[in-house]
Amino acid sequence: MTTFDLDGCLRCSACELAATRHKVVVGRGNPVAPLMLIGEAPGAQEDQSGVPFKGRSGQALDRLLMEAGFNVDEDIYICNAVKCRPPSNRRPKKNELAACRPWLDMQIALVNPAVIVLTGATAVEALLGTKAAMTQLRGKWQSWQGRSVMPIFHPAYLLRHAQTKEGGPVELTRQDLLAVRTRLCER
Ligand code: SF4
Repeated sequence: MTTFDLDGCLRCSACELAATRHKVVVGRGNPVAPLMLIGEAPGAQEDQSGVPFKGRSGQALDRLLMEAGFNVDEDIYICNAVKCRPPSNRRPKKNELAACRPWLDMQIALVNPAVIVLTGATAVEALLGTKAAMTQLRGKWQSWQGRSVMPIFHPAYLLRHAQTKEGGPVELTRQDLLAVRTRLCER
């Protein structure tokens, strides 16, 4: 049986982010959900609360997920590629992503999702090793270890483009999440 060493993760000091974090941000939602959503790294509010995607970005993400028909507490497990906040919300470094990867792999093994949603370029790079613009990647199904993977825009990017109407990032993300829902319903 797959297990997750929660105590070990909460005490982890495998990279330099351990020195500046307040809390290790592990995950939220249903740990046996068919859908897993992976973001980049915790921000300031997540660092204080210990809960991923809790700030404005997280609220925007939850709204879009609910619009697409998901129950965010039951249908999804949400986490980040890196579990500790990078100072000043900088992008996680390559060595930090690598140091934190075993925790992410353990989470994926535990949740065993049929579908993974990756929010933003860092999450895509962390899991798939693919470096490309999100405008090219989003909305296109990928495959990783037998699982369907959907890259979508990061909710922080959506907040910066919230006013864009038809055909804009918010609208495109709605379409991507509906495609995710359809894929899960087809299983
Ligand atoms: S970011 Fe990951 S690897 Fe680095 S200290 Fe936190 S839990 Fe450990």
